[in-house]
Amino acid sequence: MVTVTKYLTQVDLKRKICDCKEEEKLKILFKEVNESELRIKPNQGISGAYILREEKIIASCEHCKKVYFMMITFEGGMKEQYVSIDSVEIFDGSMKELRQIINNMFDEYENEIITVATEDFTIKVLDKYEDEEKIITKYAYLNREDKDLYKDLMGY
Ligand SMILES: [Zn+2]
Repeated sequence: MVTVTKYLTQVDLKRKICDCKEEEKLKILFKEVNESELRIKPNQGISGAYILREEKIIASCEHCKKVYFMMITFEGGMKEQYVSIDSVEIFDGSMKELRQIINNMFDEYENEIITVATEDFTIKVLDKYEDEEKIITKYAYLNREDKDLYKDLMGY
């Protein structure tokens, strides 16, 4: 299932990533998601739902504007969710360099099944597979409205 999440908070991450003192609010600029969703068996009801999601995320702090490259695994069902932050790296280049990196990664995906574009974002569904037990979806999300990322193009 493709989900659009614009921000990550401390509730989502279960810890703080940015070292500034403000409340965690990381804006997602880019992400690549590999998701496996176990199908609910009829006798389990909604509590049987279970999702494993591996995400490669580039996000910037809304307050101090630091940019982070992260690998995060989300796992769980209705009752419990687990988050594992597999890696975090701070990006120290310019926003223009970052935009080029992000656009290059996004353009490299080929053979996408569907592209969904709005004014704010573009999503490419890269792969989808399902059988009786699971649904596997791979997709990439690109933010298209971040004022810092697109500053020099917007002529501010
Ligand atoms: Zn910050």
